[in-house]
Amino acid sequence: MIAKTDRPCPFCKARQVVPVVELRPNDGHTYRIVKCTKCDFVFTANPFESTHARGANTTLRERRQPAVRHYRIEGLLRALKLPGVPPRIVEVGAGHGLLADLLRHDFDYCGYEPNKERAELCQEQGLNVTNTSFDRTTAGEESVDGIVIDNVLEHVSDPERMIADSYVALKRGGVLIVIVPSIRDVRRLMPKWRRRHHFQRVHINYFSPEHLQVMLVRNGFKPCQFGFRGFDKSTARLIPYALADTFGLHPLGLYYYAIKTA
Ligand SMILES: [Zn+2]
Repeated sequence: MIAKTDRPCPFCKARQVVPVVELRPNDGHTYRIVKCTKCDFVFTANPFESTHARGANTTLRERRQPAVRHYRIEGLLRALKLPGVPPRIVEVGAGHGLLADLLRHDFDYCGYEPNKERAELCQEQGLNVTNTSFDRTTAGEESVDGIVIDNVLEHVSDPERMIADSYVALKRGGVLIVIVPSIRDVRRLMPKWRRRHHFQRVHINYFSPEHLQVMLVRNGFKPCQFGFRGFDKSTARLIPYALADTFGLHPLGLYYYAIKTA
C-alpha cells in the first residue's frame, strides 16, 4: 500500500512510501515508520518537532560515566594524529559532556548542545560547551580538524544538512566521525531489545551502512571503517565487533570516520 508523506525522504526527498510499523507510546501520538519506495530509506513520516529536546528530562538522570564508544572515539582521534596543535574538535550534540571530559586536556574542544539543561550541566563541569545548534555558520568555515556526530543523525529532521555543514566547517584533510544506530543491528532479533531499542519514537531516521556511506560520499567525504585504529585496554572488548565491521557486517551500530578529501 503506497502512501504519500508530508515529510520527504531524508535520503532522496521523494514522498512515496510504504508502511513499516506504527508506534503507539503513551504520549497520544501514533508514529508512522515508513520506507521510501524510491531508495528504501526507513524514516518516521510524522515525527514530533525537536525529539531530542523532548527526551532531555529523562536523559539527564542517566548514568554519567563515559561509555566504551566514547573511549573508542578518543582513541581514534589520537590515532589519526590530526594536524592542529592542539587539534580543534567540534562535537555536535555534546550531551552530558562525557566525550568533552575525555578530550579536555589534549584537544581544543568545542561542543554544541541545543538543550539548555544539558549545556548548563556541561558548563558547570568547566567544559567548553555552547547552548546553540551546530551549523555551517556557528563553527566557522574550514576551521576545524575533527567533528564528532555521535548518536545524533537518527534524531534530526535533515541529517544530510548536518553532514554538509560539517564539510564546510572542516579543514581540508579534516575528519568527520559518525556513530549512528543501524537498521540491521543484530540485537533486533531479540524481541525484548527490539521493543525497547530498535524502533523508538525519538529516532526518526534509520540508517543502513549503504545509505550512510552514500550520504558521506556525495557530500565530499571518503568514508572509512573505524577498524582497529586507536584501540587500547579500555576498548579491547569491542575488537570482535571491529573485526565484523571490516567484513561489512556491522552487528551493532554504524561506526564510520570520513575524510574531507578536497
Ligand atoms: Zn528515498
